[in-house]
Amino acid sequence: MSDLNTMTIAQARDALRAGETTSAELTDACLNAIEAAGELGAFVHNTPDVARAQAANADARIAQGDAPSLCGIPLGIKDLFCTKGVPSQAASRILEGFKPEYESTVSGQLFDRGAVMLGKLNMDEFAMGSSNETSVYGNAVNPWRAGNSDAALTPGGSSGGSASAVAADLCLGATGTDTGGSIRQPAAFTGIVGIKPTYGRCSRWGVVAFASSLDQAGPMTKTVRDAAIMLEGMCGHDAKDSTSADLAVPDFEAALTGDIRGKVIGIPKEYRMDGMPAEIAKLWEDGTAMLRDAGAEIRDISLPHTKYALPAYYVIAPAEASSNLARYDGVRFGHRASLAQGDGITEMYEKTRAEGFGAEVQRRVMVGTYVLSAGFYDAYYNRARRVRALIKQDFDTVFAAGVDAILTPATPSAAFELGRKVDDPVEMYLNDVFTVTVNLAGLPGISVPTGFDEKGLPLGLQLIGRPWEEADLLNTAYALETAAGFVAKPQKWW
Ligand code: GLN
Repeated sequence: MSDLNTMTIAQARDALRAGETTSAELTDACLNAIEAAGELGAFVHNTPDVARAQAANADARIAQGDAPSLCGIPLGIKDLFCTKGVPSQAASRILEGFKPEYESTVSGQLFDRGAVMLGKLNMDEFAMGSSNETSVYGNAVNPWRAGNSDAALTPGGSSGGSASAVAADLCLGATGTDTGGSIRQPAAFTGIVGIKPTYGRCSRWGVVAFASSLDQAGPMTKTVRDAAIMLEGMCGHDAKDSTSADLAVPDFEAALTGDIRGKVIGIPKEYRMDGMPAEIAKLWEDGTAMLRDAGAEIRDISLPHTKYALPAYYVIAPAEASSNLARYDGVRFGHRASLAQGDGITEMYEKTRAEGFGAEVQRRVMVGTYVLSAGFYDAYYNRARRVRALIKQDFDTVFAAGVDAILTPATPSAAFELGRKVDDPVEMYLNDVFTVTVNLAGLPGISVPTGFDEKGLPLGLQLIGRPWEEADLLNTAYALETAAGFVAKPQKWW
């Protein structure tokens, strides 16, 4: 078979167990696809030697009958995850040359379960962005194109490389991280599935920190079933992360019955934004009808503090980032500026940080430092924290009233052209309008491809679940995926 890379994780797992293919063959198919897809800019550090060695190990394990679900499955790893001995730059110049001495818990768990690493994936610098355009490697490109146009579109961000790679069948699945929408928005822009689990489900240990109270890792995959399989491999308690939850990990795949009869799905009126494009409104209505037809009860709900979510996020996230990024001082990691005669330690810090951080990261560090400064702490940071508590309370209230999941659009539009929003940070931030509430409240959220815009670009809907109930959320997503029947793939041009 020449197109093994187009398989889903579930198909590959079954084929491997049945002896119909080997991990070595699957891995080679992906490595060839990556080789031919340089124009997508998805992979930024290829690790074919690691991949082949892991594949050989996986084949030996399978031969012995020891075949966990991810055994032999070739994956891509977002550059935000520290991978031992392999460049891990968070797409930043300041981490140039950094090769960690350790493995992130999430990638380590995946490898323990036999997964194969094909390489590191492009992203926005320090996961700050919505278009993958703040990356030191240059942007990734969306494999989808609008109609007959050959204009290059963003795959979304910050996990843009992960999204592009999965949508273009360069790997079977990829890790992503989501601080304000960075798994769900790129998944929606590329017609794939992305889930951000409950805050604390996946260990953050070894994941380069952006905003620690919001950051969560999650899988980006071709199907909901694959998301269930891969999430199970990624999550679990880790003593090395004090915010990691000491809870048993359910068998997420076993929860996929597709039966959602009697489930209550909330439709929040505040997400019907002024000026919402008709195609997004229609997608949302169609998705609502699909869940109703599958036997769910649809209920109108209110999440009154939604309109304050974006401003609160863009205070809290930069505040935490400014503190987290203080460690990049030119001494401990990566890049150090060359110094002039007479320069002291202050000049070394200043020059290194000015050279090492891109414009968006510098903007966030400045905003964060400002909102945490003594004179403005109460006016901005503390107020944003109070708003955050109210947003969480909105969700608690509707869940307490019996709502099982909430359906919203994932993004306010389909993928846009690269370059179109780079000079307008506020316009770029608006991409996250439907996703940031979920991070502020620490909830699980999943984006499911459900339709197309008028130019034939994929659109996704978001389902938001109760904390720790990813199994139930995945099952609702599975029902939506089944009803929507989204099977299209981008036309290959690369
Ligand atoms: N786009 C958002 C931001 O720029 C979210 C990023 C993310 O989730 N990592 O902050």
